[in-house]
Amino acid sequence: MSALSDRLRALRATPPLAQPPAATPDPHAELRAQRDKLAEEVAELTWDLGGLTYEMAIRDHFRLDVLVRRAAALQERDAELGEVERLLAAAQDGVTGDCRSCGAPHSRGAAYCWKCGQPLMPAATSAALIEPLNGAGGSG
Ligand SMILES: [Zn+2]
Repeated sequence: MSALSDRLRALRATPPLAQPPAATPDPHAELRAQRDKLAEEVAELTWDLGGLTYEMAIRDHFRLDVLVRRAAALQERDAELGEVERLLAAAQDGVTGDCRSCGAPHSRGAAYCWKCGQPLMPAATSAALIEPLNGAGGSG
């Protein structure tokens, strides 16, 4: 009985989530933050688009250009979110590479760095395509 009350006292003495997550050695903290931010933006844009469509519907006046523009912005963010989520999933499996420009991790299929926008395709790919053409000519 005294053990239980000790426990309760210990629980009460524990500060409720007072520790900032800064000290946590999470290598993907930045990616997670990016994911959360994008998820929030996607949710907001989805909400916006829904509200806009509703407004147009009750007024029976659709501005397709406005809807398309909003939808395009949402699609862009959604694609970014998908990439970041793929990265996080891949990071758990350890199948990632690092951007040569900024060092940010990326998934294998990624064409561009989500952080700095640099192309991620290995330089060897284009070199391998060009080499057979150059190699055809003999040395003179
Ligand atoms: Zn980069």
